[in-house]
Amino acid sequence: MLSLSTPISQIGTIYSKTRSLLSKLEIETVGDLLSHIPSRYIDFSLITTIDKIQMGETVSIRGTVESFRNIFTKYGKNIQEARVSDATGTIDLVWFNQSYLSRLIIPGTLIAFSGKAGEWKKRTSLLTPEFEAITSLNGEENEAIHTGRLVPVYPETKGISSKTIRSHIYRLLHNSDLSIPEFLPQSLLSSFNLINEKRAYDIIHFPEKLEDTQFARRRLSFDELFLLQLASQLVRQKREKKIKKNPLLVDPFLKTINHFITSLPFKLTISQQKTIQEILSDLKRPFSMNRILVGDVGSGKTLIAVIASLCVYLNKLQTLIMAPTEILANQHFINFSDFFKNTKIKVGFLTGKNKNASWNDDVIIGTHALLSKSAKFDHVGLIVIDEQQRFGVVQRANLGLVHNHPHLLTMTATPIPRTIALTLFSDLDISTLSEKPLGQKEIKTWVVPAYKREGAYNWIRNQIIKAGKNNDRIQAFVICPLIDLSENLKSVKAANTEFTHLQNEVFPDLKVGLLHGKMKGEKKSEILTDFKNGKFDILVATPVVEVGIDIPTATIMMIETAERYGLSQLHQLRGRVGRNDKESYCLLFAQEQNEDSLKRLKLLEIIHDGPQLAEMDLKIRGPGDIYGTKQHGSSGLKIADLSDVTLIENSQKAVKTSLTKYKSELNNDYLQERLKSYKIQESVIE
Ligand code: ADP
Ligand code: MG
Repeated sequence: MLSLSTPISQIGTIYSKTRSLLSKLEIETVGDLLSHIPSRYIDFSLITTIDKIQMGETVSIRGTVESFRNIFTKYGKNIQEARVSDATGTIDLVWFNQSYLSRLIIPGTLIAFSGKAGEWKKRTSLLTPEFEAITSLNGEENEAIHTGRLVPVYPETKGISSKTIRSHIYRLLHNSDLSIPEFLPQSLLSSFNLINEKRAYDIIHFPEKLEDTQFARRRLSFDELFLLQLASQLVRQKREKKIKKNPLLVDPFLKTINHFITSLPFKLTISQQKTIQEILSDLKRPFSMNRILVGDVGSGKTLIAVIASLCVYLNKLQTLIMAPTEILANQHFINFSDFFKNTKIKVGFLTGKNKNASWNDDVIIGTHALLSKSAKFDHVGLIVIDEQQRFGVVQRANLGLVHNHPHLLTMTATPIPRTIALTLFSDLDISTLSEKPLGQKEIKTWVVPAYKREGAYNWIRNQIIKAGKNNDRIQAFVICPLIDLSENLKSVKAANTEFTHLQNEVFPDLKVGLLHGKMKGEKKSEILTDFKNGKFDILVATPVVEVGIDIPTATIMMIETAERYGLSQLHQLRGRVGRNDKESYCLLFAQEQNEDSLKRLKLLEIIHDGPQLAEMDLKIRGPGDIYGTKQHGSSGLKIADLSDVTLIENSQKAVKTSLTKYKSELNNDYLQERLKSYKIQESVIE
C-alpha cells in the first residue's frame, strides 16, 4: 500500500538516479511528489487531423511515422526530421539537437504529437512537438499524458524534465496501491465546500478544464493551512496544560516595577505600556509564555525585556538574553547594566570568548554560546531571544530540553503580516510596538543608477568634508552582502575588496574602516567604538550592522547589490541611520540593472512603513526568505498561498470548529498521520 508518507524509494518504478534528482526538488515521499504541483499548463487540447492544421496553431494529431532522419549539417548543426501521416494527409516534424529521438520515433509506429505549426522548408510543419507513443492494451489505447490535452508543466531541476515528472505522477495517480483516505471530517468538507483530496490531486495534475484546477488547488491549500494551524493549536494546548508548580508572582511586585518605570529618564510609549501589561499577565499564568514582540528598529524593544527581567528577578529567578551577534550582545550588556545601575540586579555577559558571568547572575546576556551553557543556569525563569529571525528553529528547540519550561519572549524587527501571524506563528502570542519614542525622520532614499556612482561618491565626500569644516561630523556606512569576492557570485560586492578599492582609489583623502561578520568579537567592538568616536569617516561592512548598532553621527548609508535583500531587510538596514535630528540618506545600488528588481527597490523611495514593506515582500518573494521557513522546510506549505486571506480565515475557522464541536473526529488515524509532517516552530516548551 502506498500512502502519502511512503518514501518514493518504495515506488517500484522510480529508480535511484531519478530519486536523487527528485530529492533536489525536495521530493522524498509520495505526498511530496503529488504536492509538486504544476507551475502552468500547456494547452494541447485542440485535437485535429493533418489536413486541418493552420499555420501558427498549437495542435495535437495522431499519425503513423513514415520516416525519421537525423541530419548533421556542415555548420555543425544537428536536426531531426520526421514525416507523419494520418488518413487525411502527411506533415513534417522537426527538432534540433535531439539525436536520441531516433530511438523513440520509429517508422511504422503510431504516435501522438502536440506542438505549434510553423514554417519549415517552406511547408507547414510541426516545430519541436511533444510526442508519445500510442500503444494498445487489450484493444484499448493508453490515455494521452504529454499530448492532446492540458499538459502540466512542473518546476524542474537539471537532469529531470517536466515530461519525466509528469510520467511519474501520472503513474502514481493510477497506481492501484495508492490509498489516500479522506482525513477531513465530512462536516468540514461540506461546510467549506471542499472536494475530495484524491480527486484534487487528479485534477491539479491532469485537469480537463483549466477552471477545475481552482477547486483542486483550494482543497490542497486548505489542507496545508488547516493542518499547520491545527498542529500549532495542539502545541499551544499542550503548552497550556503543562502547569507550573510555582507560577511567578506579579501583583506583589507591581509597586516596585512601577517605581522602576517612573524612575526612567523617559515616559513609556502607549504600545510599550500595553506590551508590558500583556507580558506581566502572561508571566503570572501557571504555564509558559510564548510571546513574540514585533517592533521596528528604534521602537524600544530592549526596555520591554528589561522590565520583564526585573519581574523575573523579583521572583528570584534568572533571565537569559540571547542576541544574534557579539556586537549586539555587548550593546545589550551595556544597556542592561545601565538600566539596572541603581538596583541590586547582577548583569552578566557570556559569549564564546567573554565569560564575565557567574552562574548566579540575575540577567545573563550572550550569544548562541548561551545555548550550550544554559544547562548550568539552574533557576531560569525567562528566556529572551532578540532578533529571532536570526536563530534557527533547531536551536530554539534545543533550549527547551534544558530548562524547566521557562517563559519565552522573542523579539524581532521584521513585521509579521496578519496572514503569517495566523499561520506560521499561530502558536505564538504577538505584541507590537507601533510607535518610535525618539521619533524618526524619514530617511531620504534613492535607487542610484550605475552611471551616477561617481557622482554619489563625490556627494558623500562633500557631505563629510563640509560637516568637518563646520566642526560637525557626518559618517557613512557602505554595506556589501559578502565578505570576500565569490567565484559563483562574481557580480556581488564584497566588503574586503570594496574596502581596499574605496580607501585607495575613491576616498584616499578620507579614513575608511572595515567590519565584517567573520572578525573576532573584540575586533568588531573595537572597530565600532572607533567608528563611533570618529576615527573613520566611512565604514564598509557586511549586514552585521543590520541589528542593534547605534551611531547617531552616521547619517548616510550606501547599500551595494541591494537587489539581494528583501524590502524588510533593507528597511531595517536603513534604520541604522536617521538616529539623529540631521537629515539622513540611504543610497541603493543594484548590481543587476533588471527592471523588476529596480522597480522593487524603488518602493523604498516612497514607502517608509515597515509593516507595509513586509506585506509587499510577502507578495513578491514569499514567506521563505523573510520568515526563515525555507531553510527549515518546517512550514509544510507547498501549495497554499500565504496571501490568500480568505482561505486562511476559513481554515482558521475550521480549526476552531474542529477543536470545539468535532473534537472526536480529530482522533482519526489519518488525520493524526497527516499532522506528523507539520513540525511547529515552537518546540522550546516541549
Ligand atoms: P529596538 O526596538 O530597535 O531594539 P531599542 O530598545 O534599542 O530599540 O531603543 C532605541 C532607543 O530608544 C534606546 O536608546 C532606548 O533607550 C530608547 N527608548 C526606548 N523607549 C523609549 C521611550 N519610551 N522614550 C524615549 N526613549 C526610549
Ligand atoms: Mg534591539
